[in-house]
Amino acid sequence: MRLANLLAPACQECQAPSWKLFCHSCQEKMKIGEQSSVAVNWEKIVLEFNYTKAAENWLHDIKMNRRPERWRELKDLQLTQFPNRFQVLSVSSDPLQMKKRLFDSSESFGQSLAEHLNLPYLGVGFNRGPYLSPQKRLRREEREISLAPLLSLKPEFQRPLGSVLLVDDVMTTGATIKTHAQLLRPFCKEIWIYCLFHVSRRLE
Ligand SMILES: [Zn+2]
Repeated sequence: MRLANLLAPACQECQAPSWKLFCHSCQEKMKIGEQSSVAVNWEKIVLEFNYTKAAENWLHDIKMNRRPERWRELKDLQLTQFPNRFQVLSVSSDPLQMKKRLFDSSESFGQSLAEHLNLPYLGVGFNRGPYLSPQKRLRREEREISLAPLLSLKPEFQRPLGSVLLVDDVMTTGATIKTHAQLLRPFCKEIWIYCLFHVSRRLE
């Protein structure tokens, strides 16, 4: 084994020696990329990586604000770049999570992500009331129905917004992002969606 490999930290996914967060082959496997547009809610959606155990650990460190330095690891992964006419807007956080963590993880996540994408950050665009029951077992249609009445676009964003890149950490069914995009639609020239991770069906 080469000395460099002996000294290298482990790939977060397969544990092979890797100077980057994920080794080359894991990174290739995780990469998803651009998807075709869905209905009329947005023009384009980019799902960057598959959601894996390593991604889950990385997100946990980031979102709990325990190891903010882990953001640097994303530089190695060469995130998709967007035209500079876009401004980044975050989806809403679950208010119960926010209370538990004592900060808005959606805001800190969006802010850091915007920095990595080299785009201006607008903030969290939405107000959201708490869910009255756990969501995990609900199907997509049911999630949409339960989130929609709790969600509203903040008054300061009810103005012409131009080109908005709506960002979220993880997309599962897409119901959450769809509900957010619907509220934005009347105020935007174009809406592109960017999710860092996507839960693919086989993992669900
Ligand atoms: Zn690997």
